[in-house]
Amino acid sequence: MPMYEFSCRKCGEHFEDLVTLAQVENGEVECPSCGSKKVEREVSTFATSGGDSFGGISSSGCGSGGFT
Ligand SMILES: [Zn+2]
Repeated sequence: MPMYEFSCRKCGEHFEDLVTLAQVENGEVECPSCGSKKVEREVSTFATSGGDSFGGISSSGCGSGGFT
């Protein structure tokens, strides 16, 4: 079971939970703080690594120049 990150729309609580995608889509994920099911799944950003983002920005800038 993957771990997803959520933020509660009611109380603003940020939490992680081990749930299935079906549970997320069916709105079965509850906020551990207030019990509300109005939670929003946040996209995990574990793909980013420190310093690497700078290289991505500069390389995309070069690509936008266009040599063709
Ligand atoms: Zn809440």
